[in-house]
This record gives sequence, structure tokens and C-alpha cells, in this order.
Amino acid sequence: MTRPSNLLCSAYIGLFLWLLYCAVQSARHGAWWATVVFVVGTCLAMVAFLREDQLDDLLRREAVRAEREARPVLTPDETADGVVAVALAGECCDRWWTSAGADHDPTCRRQTPESSAA
Ligand SMILES: [Zn+2]
Repeated sequence: MTRPSNLLCSAYIGLFLWLLYCAVQSARHGAWWATVVFVVGTCLAMVAFLREDQLDDLLRREAVRAEREARPVLTPDETADGVVAVALAGECCDRWWTSAGADHDPTCRRQTPESSAA
């Protein structure tokens, strides 16, 4: 949740509790018309809280979708170049490369075990 959304949700919870307290007090003193009004207000505060939560989820989903659509679509050649670049970036030494990560050159500084090979 974003900070403004958190503040709103906290305010709605506070309003919900206050209206609930007012409804109980009205009922205890026999003011039934006021009790009904406070109960309706309590329900509206709860609906507002739920709507704010849904709105926050919707905004987050929309931001993710917009970010995804803003990314450039790669051609298959560009994708393959990217895969090769990542593989080359993880290369340790020549022997490591030719042995598929099973062995290292004697002069290799990394000497990483096979399981942690990039
Ligand atoms: Zn190596």
C-alpha cells in the first residue's frame, strides 16, 4: 500500500470504530433513529475501506501493466544476443568454459565449485 492509501485506510478504520461506538451508545440510550444512522455510517466506512484497498491493488496492477508495455519488444536475434551476453558475463576461465563449469585453469583466481558456477 502507498502512504496516502495507508493514511486513508487508517482514517476509515478510526471512523468505523467511532461510528460503531456512537451506534452502541445511541442504542443504550434508546435513540433508535440515531442508532440506525450510525450503523449505516459504520457500513459506509467499511465499504470505503474495502474500496480504498481495491483501488490500491488496481493502481498497482495498472502500473505493472504500463511498465511491461513500455519495455521494448525484442526480436529473436536480440534475445539470443542477450542470452549469449549473459553467458559470457558469467565466464570464469577458458577451462571452465570448455568443461561446462566442471574444472578451472590452475591459475584461475575464482576456483569456484561446480555447484556455484555462474
Ligand atoms: Zn575459473
